[in-house]
Amino acid sequence: TRPAAGEPAVDTSEYKGVWVYIEQFQGKVRSVGLELLGQGRIVADAMGQELAAVLIGDDVAPLAKDLFASGADKVYLIEGVEYKHYSTDAYTIAITDLIHTYKPAVILMGATNDGRDLGPRIACRVGTGLTADCTNLGIDEESGLVAWTRPAFGGNIMATILCPNHRPQMGTVRPNVFKRPEPDMSRSGELIRVASKVKAADIRTKLIEILSLADTASCNLEEAEFIVAGGRGMGKPENFALIEELAAILGGAVGASRAAVDAGWKPAIHQVGQTGKTVAPKVYIACGISGAIQHLAGMSTSDIIIAINKDADAPIFKSADFGIVGDVLEVLPILIEEIKKL
Ligand code: FAD
Repeated sequence: TRPAAGEPAVDTSEYKGVWVYIEQFQGKVRSVGLELLGQGRIVADAMGQELAAVLIGDDVAPLAKDLFASGADKVYLIEGVEYKHYSTDAYTIAITDLIHTYKPAVILMGATNDGRDLGPRIACRVGTGLTADCTNLGIDEESGLVAWTRPAFGGNIMATILCPNHRPQMGTVRPNVFKRPEPDMSRSGELIRVASKVKAADIRTKLIEILSLADTASCNLEEAEFIVAGGRGMGKPENFALIEELAAILGGAVGASRAAVDAGWKPAIHQVGQTGKTVAPKVYIACGISGAIQHLAGMSTSDIIIAINKDADAPIFKSADFGIVGDVLEVLPILIEEIKKL
């Protein structure tokens, strides 16, 4: 039966605790999980509740100590060969069961490929809503509910969304919006092993083999320490070879402005900005990018920003730590040669 408008759909007082879904790939925790533990700690403290991490995989128990060190009071651990690789079916069933058993008040997930697949599916199964792709997260002082903020109407407004009547309050949050907390290895917590309830027949798609991870380095903008990004000022798609070469030498990823993506010079997965990815590398090198507010929205928290632009008045220089006024097609080859000598 549907509740009347404005009436709670569940007894909200039964739901307690803030959970963070910890994404791991090949036994390594993805950074976004730790970032969300840091912010989850703030939310949990404001609510006067516990912070728990949900860790799923095959033989991943050793990762729990890093989760305690990053702020978790509890780790719910689900292990088994069926969880070795991310599986929509297996992970959905596992987390849905966990929610039904332990009834968390809040669940945070990364707005990654896996989180975007998993979050809506779980929300639907447990009968709650989901605020997707958030760029901020806090507590609404008046209601004490989680305040989820996300771009709406193509990024033209920022909407703050509350979930008063359903539980858990769920959302996916973009990687790199929050800094990772400093780990405190003296912290410990409670490890709760949960038995797997997934049966082989529940899993409809299986990962047979990973053939190649070759191009993931250049696309892995969220985790990259170095990003070399190109904009319209690169002139034509062939000139992106310079960006790719510099990124490869630095062991970094390739970014692009929306103008470069719209022109078809790079696929959309490389786009940085309000409607692209939010990144926070140690060094961001912006080549032929003017520095529009929507681009800055995705990269301004980078530790060091280096801009190369032929227009000394380009707005990007206001955000840059180091600026080179010049033609990218002349500056980049020199930079590449000099860095190769190091
Ligand atoms: P331009 O603004 O055209 O700048 C090109 C720069 O290259 C200029 O500064 C020029 O001086 C310089 N240049 C030219 N030739 C050379 C040369 N040979 N050597 C050196 N410098 C040179 N943009 C994003 O990037 N990401 C987003 O996520 C995003 N989301 C948006 C969402 C909305 C709702 C809207 C309205 C816009 C969004 N945009 C986004 C678009 C944004 O407003 C800008 O249009 C875009 O960032 C411009 O890209 P650009 O800097 O490559 O191009």
